[in-house]
Amino acid sequence: MEKRILLLTTGGTIASTQTERGLAPGLGAEDLLETLRDVLPPCSLDTREVCRLDSTNMTCQEWLLLAREIRQAYEAYDGFVITHGTDTMAYTASALSYLIQNSGKPIVLTGAQKPIHMEITDAKSNLRDAVLYALEEQSAGVQILFNGQVIAGTRAKKIKSFSYDAFSSINYPPLAVVQDGRILRYIPGRKEKAGPVFYEKLNPKVFLLKLTPGIRTELLEAVFQAYDCVIVESFGVGGIPDSMAEDLFRLLSRYRPEEKILVMATQVTYEGSNVGVYEVGQRIRERFRLLEARDMTLEAVLTKMMWILGLGLQSFGEIEKLFYQQIGYDTML
Ligand code: ASP
Repeated sequence: MEKRILLLTTGGTIASTQTERGLAPGLGAEDLLETLRDVLPPCSLDTREVCRLDSTNMTCQEWLLLAREIRQAYEAYDGFVITHGTDTMAYTASALSYLIQNSGKPIVLTGAQKPIHMEITDAKSNLRDAVLYALEEQSAGVQILFNGQVIAGTRAKKIKSFSYDAFSSINYPPLAVVQDGRILRYIPGRKEKAGPVFYEKLNPKVFLLKLTPGIRTELLEAVFQAYDCVIVESFGVGGIPDSMAEDLFRLLSRYRPEEKILVMATQVTYEGSNVGVYEVGQRIRERFRLLEARDMTLEAVLTKMMWILGLGLQSFGEIEKLFYQQIGYDTML
């Protein structure tokens, strides 16, 4: 029987048209499909427009909406392809990796650096490859397909603004490549036996604080009042400047450990963090109960914390355990 794919569209450059004020997502699901029919591999393909946004405007609400659409259609389809703006695609892919776990069916996000209507565009090849990958028997779980690379949803990062090879797989190899319609797998597909688990809640109160040399600390109090988790994007393997450590300690001591979570991460893209290496790191680890991003991407850390905090766990220990548990290839440490 012909395989069934559901194409969910959300906007982005791939669906953009030129307006007087710049590119804006003007095409819906049917328009996209119309442009593509002749390049897509044979299959039965239905479409659904979930939203029509520049992905700059995507929020947790759209992530939850996408997860809900997939849950409702899960039994009826063999795979799902989502078209999405490139700017926040890595966040959406990470969020979906936590909202839809153990999926034996593929959920493939793709987009383009150039709109589908342009004569020279990566839109057609990306979408064709995404459908091809979603049709393949071994494909499973959430991933991004872009410029022939298949990247686990929790490992993707946008690294280039204009070039076609816009995404990189961080601290983990790409799962596969697609070349001239052929799929070469580097990591064998995982067919989950237990069946998918869907989640319906995220806690958006997770803040990303980027350290800069000499950073001032006046706003920290407001940050800790407004957010339940602060991810500190530290400079290298991890540490907090002495000038900030005192204020941080004073603020955190007002809360129970499970009320305000501190995660140490790094602004260095590759090779991750390890707070234990330097004195500036060890000192904070001795004073605070904190979590470490290790080899996870910032996008994965942020969305994983949103998912974990949405579960309403009662102790720091439970939060810690889940944070370090590998989900969808997000950590190997
Ligand atoms: N600003 C666009 C978006 O993220 C960029 C893109 O799709 O490449 O929707």
